Amino acid sequence: MPDIPLIQAARQNLDRPAVIASEGRFSYRDLLESSAKVAACLLNGSADLEERRMAFLVPPGFQYTAVQWGIWRAGGIAVPLCVSHPWPELEYVIDDSDAAVVVAHPELADKLKPILEQKNRRFLMTAEALGAGPASLPDISVNRRALILYTSGSTGKPKGVVTTHRNIEAQAMSLIAAWEWTAEDHILNILPLHHIHGIINVLTCALRAGAVCEILPRFEAGAVWERITRGGLTLFMAVPTIYAKLIAFWEAASAERQNAMTAACSKMRLMVSGSAASPVSVIEKWQTVSGHVLLERYGMTEIGMALSNPLHGERRPGYVGTPLPGMKVRLVDENGETVKPGTQGEIQVKGSAVFAEYWGKPGATKESFREGWFCTGDVAVVEKGGYRILGRKSVDIIKTGGYKVSALEIEEVLRTHPCIKDCAVVGVEDPEWGERVSAALVLNERNVLTLPELRAWAREKLAAYKVPTRMCVLEDLPRNQVGKVTKPAIVNLFKAGKGIESC
Ligand code: AMP
Repeated sequence: MPDIPLIQAARQNLDRPAVIASEGRFSYRDLLESSAKVAACLLNGSADLEERRMAFLVPPGFQYTAVQWGIWRAGGIAVPLCVSHPWPELEYVIDDSDAAVVVAHPELADKLKPILEQKNRRFLMTAEALGAGPASLPDISVNRRALILYTSGSTGKPKGVVTTHRNIEAQAMSLIAAWEWTAEDHILNILPLHHIHGIINVLTCALRAGAVCEILPRFEAGAVWERITRGGLTLFMAVPTIYAKLIAFWEAASAERQNAMTAACSKMRLMVSGSAASPVSVIEKWQTVSGHVLLERYGMTEIGMALSNPLHGERRPGYVGTPLPGMKVRLVDENGETVKPGTQGEIQVKGSAVFAEYWGKPGATKESFREGWFCTGDVAVVEKGGYRILGRKSVDIIKTGGYKVSALEIEEVLRTHPCIKDCAVVGVEDPEWGERVSAALVLNERNVLTLPELRAWAREKLAAYKVPTRMCVLEDLPRNQVGKVTKPAIVNLFKAGKGIESC
């Protein structure tokens, strides 16, 4: 009976530990047994879910994993819901994916109460799904659609990114090969499990490799440090914002505690950062804190991971390395021509890891591919053999006075100003300049900075056309669910004009 590779691999590791979570410790045998029960419950007497969508709202942990695997084993498409989303966001995903079943954890079921009134959907609690009797499970081909992840809606409403089992296998195996995952690995997951980073790079890679995935229900800096200090972990993966929070916690700790935290990190074999550009300052501070040079990689919900710094060899801050195994990457100019080395271009990607389609949006799917290459909308340049991300075509690349400038590059420089704690640079429409370079700043406590002071300082470090001509000071930068700065919100602040200095 053909099973998806993830299940086949689990059968080779039956008595090894698979998941450690608030619910307890579970072996691969436990995971296979529990997911078979979930599958039986979802099938509800039918032979195969035949790619019907199964949404689930379950906190990160063993039950989450059993439900996800159960959906796959019954032939359904898994639609993980974000545990912190308000109802309208959940409703959008459930409706857009046309979920036939919604599974909820009792702690979160209240959020889904309005679902109970919807006659066309079956509502299940996790206890019911995990308590079902045996059933024979269908054969699952790797060509089946397996997962829909909704990408954060920086442009319009979120789109459902559909991946097949073959795509997921390619995404996981690429990272397992590049980062040398083995069954001896033990990773701590603190990432949300409705996003590719946590689902594929952490959970699926760990379980495909026969390793242990230890899951905390949510990120909390003290709890992460406590767990790291207890030892036994080999891997850790997070977004730059989380590393910054871990750094702040470490800096506030006593010297004795700092030593213990640093010593525990040094026993781990790899720490990875991605999902957003990691400021060079975070990479440098993390090296002091942990002894690790963070391995920065680049990827996207639609493509899995495409570029990575090396596991062995030099990891260059500010760079995202070279194509991962199985990924073809090219840089293309506005005319669709591959650019010469050293010239910036849009990243386009090909490979079996690349997603199948946007759910229910054939037009958007077609538009996002050129001759079989997926157009990421991200702009990069290859320098000294490594890719450097310059920003997104839409927001982080600013056209001002005819010059193309990278918002990320300016931010990197502004972050080295002693008064600046964090910042975000955007292009704001301007009749004279096309766009004006505009900086939203978060200042260190008790610091004051005016636009003329900032400009005088920045002119020393940046070409004149890159120096911000508008600025505002904020208490914090607006961020989305996964901690990424929401630049459209900053553009709107500048457009509203309140508290803006201009020259
Ligand atoms: P998501 O689909 O939510 O993972 O977001 C993917 C986007 O995050 C990419 O298209 C990039 O714009 C951005 N991204 C991911 N990794 C990096 C990185 N290492 N450096 C800069 N941007 C990144």
